[in-house]
Amino acid sequence: MAFDLEKLLRPHISKIKPYSSARDEYSGKAGIFLDANENPFGSMAEGKFNRYPDPYQFDIKQKLAVVKGVATNQIFLGNGSDEAIDLLMRTFCRPGIDNIILLPPTYGMYEVSAGINDIAIQKVNLTPDYQLRPGAIMEAVNENTKIIFICSPNNPSGNKVKRADIHQILDNFQGLVVVDEAYIDFSDEPSFTTELANYPNLLVMQTFSKAWGLASLRIGMAFASEEIIKILNLIKPPYNISGLTQEKVLEALDNAPAIKKVIEDTFVERAFLEKEIEQLSFVQKIYPSHANFILIKMDGARKIYEYLIEQTIIIRDRSKVILCEDCLRISVGTRTENEALLKALKLYNP
Ligand SMILES: *Cc1c(COP(=O)(O)O)cnc(C)c1O
Repeated sequence: MAFDLEKLLRPHISKIKPYSSARDEYSGKAGIFLDANENPFGSMAEGKFNRYPDPYQFDIKQKLAVVKGVATNQIFLGNGSDEAIDLLMRTFCRPGIDNIILLPPTYGMYEVSAGINDIAIQKVNLTPDYQLRPGAIMEAVNENTKIIFICSPNNPSGNKVKRADIHQILDNFQGLVVVDEAYIDFSDEPSFTTELANYPNLLVMQTFSKAWGLASLRIGMAFASEEIIKILNLIKPPYNISGLTQEKVLEALDNAPAIKKVIEDTFVERAFLEKEIEQLSFVQKIYPSHANFILIKMDGARKIYEYLIEQTIIIRDRSKVILCEDCLRISVGTRTENEALLKALKLYNP
């Protein structure tokens, strides 16, 4: 049975006619624009924000296509990856009928978004070393399973997921396989975008929030077949990426080579944290990280988390999460921040 996009969609989606925004009908940049009820006199804030932004973010996609080695029509941009996740639920999953498969411990937004959309969740835990169980995953698939979310490098564990296992899911599952690569810039693995030509059922998510340092702008990327991207564009809010965000992302893309230095700095600081944390008596295990955070198993994790909050050092408590018992997740900070964290931890008296 081959992948059938039409069959995977919620039936009403194929019948939707796109909202034709004022800016859809004329794509030239020059002209007298009296079509969108904008304010022609200017903005009440510094800068020029009185015109609606490009609904399809063409300038960004042209640059991004080069950076990522994909075609412009294989790129969707969302108001954070969060928007892409929500759109996928609404595109493919019938509320109260369809289900998705999640692989805990993993990113929390998939479950939240499914819950909001009344989509059932089937959970297939990762192995204790946070790898997929392809056999168990395929066993959980039923006729109403629409999406499998795989996060690699995985949050909160930080490891990369074995490529062969992801291939096995892609080869066998006829629904959509989402590979969330929010941390791919910190990994030595090539992106699964290199596999888009081979798998019509693959969608790769990345974000500007992590290595690119643009979390506040809210912009996430999805890469997939032209057909899937067309549908996401069809149902997204027309102006989902603000003009200010588009400007700043273009600036970042012009600066793309600088990301290397950020990644190197992150690795230096991550190694520093690992070396120092390893020596603390209450630390049981530091999980190998291919991301900009570290998962650490400690005696009395919750207590340590609360102690650090008292010192106004905020980390992430994952100690109640399945397969992360007694684990805390620490984002890699600057040297000053990391030293403050280590100083506090060294003073901690269990
Ligand atoms: C941080 C993160 C994202 C990014 O979300 P944005 O909405 O783009 O900021 C996506 N997936 C995972 C697993 C993350 O950890």
